[in-house]
Amino acid sequence: MARSMQILLEPSEFPKQWYNLNADLPSPLQPPLGPDGNPVSPEMLTPIFPMSLIEQEVSKERWIDIPEGILDILATYRPSPLHRAFALEEYLGTPAKIYYKNESVSPPGSHKPNTAIAQAWYNKQAGVKKLTTETGAGQWGSALAFACAHVGLECKVYMVRISYDQKPFRKVMMQTWGAECVASPSMETKTGRDVLERYPDTPGSLGIAISEAVETAVADTTGSTKYSLGSVLNHVMMHQTIIGLETKKQLKKAGERMPDVIIGCAGGGSNFAGLAFPFVYDKIHGASIDIIPVEPASCPTMTKGPYSYDLGDFSGMTPLLPMHTLGHTFVPPPIHAGGLRYHGIAPLISQAIVEGLVNPRSIHQLECYSAAVTFARTEGIIVAPETSHAVAAAIQEANKAKEAGKETVIVFNLSGHGLMDLKGYEAYFGGELADYELPQSEIDATLQTLEGYPKPEVRRTGKW
Ligand SMILES: *Cc1c(COP(=O)(O)O)cnc(C)c1O
Repeated sequence: MARSMQILLEPSEFPKQWYNLNADLPSPLQPPLGPDGNPVSPEMLTPIFPMSLIEQEVSKERWIDIPEGILDILATYRPSPLHRAFALEEYLGTPAKIYYKNESVSPPGSHKPNTAIAQAWYNKQAGVKKLTTETGAGQWGSALAFACAHVGLECKVYMVRISYDQKPFRKVMMQTWGAECVASPSMETKTGRDVLERYPDTPGSLGIAISEAVETAVADTTGSTKYSLGSVLNHVMMHQTIIGLETKKQLKKAGERMPDVIIGCAGGGSNFAGLAFPFVYDKIHGASIDIIPVEPASCPTMTKGPYSYDLGDFSGMTPLLPMHTLGHTFVPPPIHAGGLRYHGIAPLISQAIVEGLVNPRSIHQLECYSAAVTFARTEGIIVAPETSHAVAAAIQEANKAKEAGKETVIVFNLSGHGLMDLKGYEAYFGGELADYELPQSEIDATLQTLEGYPKPEVRRTGKW
């Protein structure tokens, strides 16, 4: 009899509500600010987002009902399986029990459709005809293209130049789902033209691509084009919490108590938040859990970036957000984990870091690829380069458990598969990849851009 590797849920066990951490943070989140330093009112966001999503962005309700129409689309690939990583455990010789939540089973191959579907659906309800967005590695662009095809919206994607060149098949996926995809910076927007004039060979950045997508949405004065962001914002974190809510039910089915360690890789922070926030709730209420967002050492937003107000994009189309940041002009080195090349991190995660509720970690690229290869040769799944950061941290924790001789329960989020990212693996096997430690001087240089901005209060209860 084979061991039970997968813990599945019945469709009837699917969560019917999202969890909103904003209701439970011990110290409240600080508001986004406009260019004048005053808090941004919900009305000011209406040129880019529909009111339903703006309301979710500022909501303090703990539970928010998921509309039937969204549940129906999510049901095409959810609930997703939780796996017990027996083969990896055996290979590592660890007493730890390792579980991973497999978000790679969605048609676009990552967790991102969980919010893309919700955002496309709310926009459709609001009478919107077209969504614009940016994409790093192409995962978000393809997720939004997929969601727009489901609900019947047009979709335009600005894809960061380096990924556009490294991952041409992501573009084809977007086209297949009916979206238009252009490389960013592009000649189609003022931001794009300005950047190209100054830096014709730039690899691009998420910050630049966001500026282009927002500019395009705002330029349609009829209001029928809106913008959609795949991470960072409160409502995006909330849409992803179905990951953690399902995981809790699955751990219970597997006969587990509360896990000891929760891990997710973090770019803007949404897949990490999706798994972690329902457990942050338990930590706030007394559970002892080590909750770890993992980032690349070459883009060390959480571990080296100060907590500051900063722009969400390159050219100031977005409000100032309170977050850990490397400065909005920061263009990270062209590592293969394109989805983790963002200068900031979600305000909700930043506040949880300030409180000590979550403990960020950074890991170098080579250790991540090595972990991903070990994972593929034991568990079978070829993970995305982003996800390899979570795998590497899970292996670090499993090795710690071995040294301590403890049966630690480790859960990590397998945010996506890497079948569209094999160029990175090829470069790894060819010995072409190197670790890249960002010099402090480079960090200091872009941090200077923060100097004129208001400083958020550092609010912490001191309990963690
Ligand atoms: C986009 C992406 C990430 C990073 O984004 P978050 O918002 O931090 O989750 C991580 N893993 C995969 C597979 C992705 O596609």
